Amino acid sequence: MTGPAGTVLSGTGSDAGPTGADWAAAVDAVRQVPADGRVLLICHVNPDGDALGSMLGFGLGLRRLGVRRLQATFPGPPEVPEPFHGLPGLDLLVPASEAYPDPDLVVCFDAASASRLGDLVDRLATAGTALVLDHHASNTRFGGIHLVDPAAAATSVVVEGLLDRLGVPLDAGIAECLYVALTTDTGSFRFEATTPAVHEMAARLLATGIRPGDISRRIFDHRPFGAVRLFGEVLGRARLEPSAAGGRGLVWTYATLDDLARHGQRPYVLEALIDSVRCTAEADVSCVVKQVAAEEWAVSLRSKGAVDVSRVAVALGGGGHRFAAGFTGRGTADEVVERIRGQLDDAVIGGGDQEDQRRVSVFPR
Ligand code: AMP
Ligand code: MN
Ligand code: MN
Repeated sequence: MTGPAGTVLSGTGSDAGPTGADWAAAVDAVRQVPADGRVLLICHVNPDGDALGSMLGFGLGLRRLGVRRLQATFPGPPEVPEPFHGLPGLDLLVPASEAYPDPDLVVCFDAASASRLGDLVDRLATAGTALVLDHHASNTRFGGIHLVDPAAAATSVVVEGLLDRLGVPLDAGIAECLYVALTTDTGSFRFEATTPAVHEMAARLLATGIRPGDISRRIFDHRPFGAVRLFGEVLGRARLEPSAAGGRGLVWTYATLDDLARHGQRPYVLEALIDSVRCTAEADVSCVVKQVAAEEWAVSLRSKGAVDVSRVAVALGGGGHRFAAGFTGRGTADEVVERIRGQLDDAVIGGGDQEDQRRVSVFPR
């Protein structure tokens, strides 16, 4: 099913955000946690700024409400990527193996489906109540109460809405977490999702006194020299395929575990690589294929608008948004890219940058 913005829909099949009843149910779920109740916060595997920032910002808010038995976690290795080492609320984090087995309340952040919760998926069944906060149009409504707003630029927009309804005022700690989340998912206020409401929220966060220059430098503009050299090598092998995606063009590259090892780098440094690849003017679609195991690859897809990359990702077992999506690929990097090529033609929705350029080139002089 396709929504008005070309987004792939599932779940309720609606682009509408949470109803008044949804907000009320979520507020009740938090208020009904007993004084000694255990609350477990979970975000998606391989957490990004929105996942971590939304989760920790909400955790700090719950702490302000007096929730004492409170944990935050995510599936996979209990390792926070270096850019997030300065985030407030990191002391809430525990390894997944130590997370409450049967919390009174579990809250999930920025995960479109239960599969994004890895081994922690069982908490959806063992928890007293499962609350889902998200902004993916493809959200499968896998919890008990859902605050899913496909119009929200980040999950942190939903978090701010819930904290407000719970009567928790923004402080600098909460604001920094939510700001990291908001800047991550809007590409530092550059992407289409950057609405007036996004800037109004940013203004409320900045009003707490947080320092946007310091935060952005730490999150986006700070990496080891080895990562700079690694980027050079991986960008040097990028391939441009102008005829892919019905002539809209595809640019792609890959990075192996061996590449990481040779440059002494951790996998998280590759998260920023797609931002260099997607600059390619001749391609609407960009792709980075990152090895995570012998025959397993984490795939990042981006579009400038002519192709709905969430359709490609969903078709290949993943998910995401129209302009940014991903999936886990198996086999060789070439096999993974071949599967992407096979999905691109069906995902063309028209418009986008390339179309604009074509229009400019036929403009009478
Ligand atoms: P990334 O390229 O990792 O920054 O991911 C872009 C977007 O794609 C994320 O915000 C997720 O919504 C989605 N995504 C990435 N990987 C997966 C996956 N394996 N399964 C489902 N959704 C994914
Ligand atoms: Mn995310
Ligand atoms: Mn997000």
